[in-house]
Amino acid sequence: MKQISEALLATFFPTECHLCGQLVENKACGIVCQNCWDSYLPFKESQLCQKCGYPSLDSNTKPYLQTSQKDCNYCRDMNFSLARACGVYQSVMKANVLYLKTSAYLCEKLSDLIENTLAESNLLESIELIIPIALHQDRLKERKFNQAEIIAEKISSLAKIPLDKISLARVKPTAKHRLGMDKIDRSNSLKGAFQVIRPRLIENKTILLVDDVFTTGTTISEATNELLKAKVKEVKIFTLARVI
Ligand SMILES: [Zn+2]
Ligand SMILES: [Zn+2]
Repeated sequence: MKQISEALLATFFPTECHLCGQLVENKACGIVCQNCWDSYLPFKESQLCQKCGYPSLDSNTKPYLQTSQKDCNYCRDMNFSLARACGVYQSVMKANVLYLKTSAYLCEKLSDLIENTLAESNLLESIELIIPIALHQDRLKERKFNQAEIIAEKISSLAKIPLDKISLARVKPTAKHRLGMDKIDRSNSLKGAFQVIRPRLIENKTILLVDDVFTTGTTISEATNELLKAKVKEVKIFTLARVI
């Protein structure tokens, strides 16, 4: 899959930046030009909620404040132990996440960003298995691949931690989330969406659950809940981007 995607990218390269339209001159940059990459601010560990990774915001002056807190109002009741993302779901990261839904390819810049985020945080500490958030089979047929799996494969190969693509399944085809759905609507539409297929293989293990975007946290919480019900020891979360 990776070789095909690289060949495809090479065919269409050089390409126009998906954000500003300038020519992308360096293949390592993928679909976004160097200038746009340079203007993107990835999260810094010192600016984040220590539990869920939500940045301390100061909308007046700087995008993020240099303060971290133990947990924020947002995550106090969330069932995972730790969550981190590379950066906010805007500009560069939004373009890359959208592209990843149609093309199973992570450019070098994105891969470096994942590696840095993992190195800065405690996310991989004691992780024994990496599990991507599953897509329902119908959606998988449409898309041909699961974008969360592409990210999980990258982390697995960077960290040399086994990948488990089977244990967590999506058994309910969830309706696409519509604008105006609040957290409770989203949560209800996801009830029973996931099922653990082989509980014995994950029992008592510390799991890294991987997805492309952390939106309201309802998908992640529902999947985490199923894993914890199957007697997983602890669940940590990695996403490429975080909606703030
Ligand atoms: Zn650009
Ligand atoms: Zn938090």
